[in-house]
Amino acid sequence: MRVMREDDIVTGGSMTVDETTERARKLLDRYGHLQGISLIEPMVHEEFAGKITMTSSFGTEAAALLALVAEVDPNLPVIFLDTRKLFGETHRYREQLVDQLGLTNIRIMRPDEEKLKAEDPEGMLFAKDGNRCCFIRKVEPLQRALQGYDAWLTGRKRFHGGERGALPVIETAGTRIKINPLAGYNRQDIEDIFENRALPRHPLEAEGYMSIGCMPCTDRVDPTVSDVRAGRWAGQDKTECGIHYII
Ligand code: SF4
Repeated sequence: MRVMREDDIVTGGSMTVDETTERARKLLDRYGHLQGISLIEPMVHEEFAGKITMTSSFGTEAAALLALVAEVDPNLPVIFLDTRKLFGETHRYREQLVDQLGLTNIRIMRPDEEKLKAEDPEGMLFAKDGNRCCFIRKVEPLQRALQGYDAWLTGRKRFHGGERGALPVIETAGTRIKINPLAGYNRQDIEDIFENRALPRHPLEAEGYMSIGCMPCTDRVDPTVSDVRAGRWAGQDKTECGIHYII
């Protein structure tokens, strides 16, 4: 899948690619058997103190990782990509979760206005070139937000299937390291986090949305016959927005 042009690619971690690869190898040796809060804790307080952030879509399962992170450090910067195509419910859910979990450092990133005017003046680019739309509305804002960080936590899980089926808990992304503390969690593990911590549900979950992104590219799915992400870019040759191809 191609979502970036050569001149779009920027790198931003303080390590070289080789140093990042070596660091990831050492981290995997030491922490590769851990997950959840046991993995988040040393990453945030020891390995990458002040140099780590997390991304959250504030979608249906997002509260699980947010809750664990809030228990480790409620001041950890949380990057939220406001593509300007999100459901209003997602914005309200974000406010509710931030309040309930006591998160203090939400960084709302938006697309560059000039790029929008030049490439998506009608706001319909998603229908013609979804990859470019995702680049302008998600990838480029995230690249900006990640400047100055050497590592980021993501909420991806193997049970979501597709490219995520082989997800390691620690991986490299060019000059940065990505930590996936929930990689090995299954649906019931996520449910348990919600129940044990009395986390609120995304309001659209009850209406049949299992994975929630932008409004034009998210459909309801039948949970008995579909995989979790089947409603994302349904009917298109596209399964990811591209933020996990950032280097
Ligand atoms: S998910 Fe759809 S609307 Fe959102 S940025 Fe990607 S293509 Fe555009």
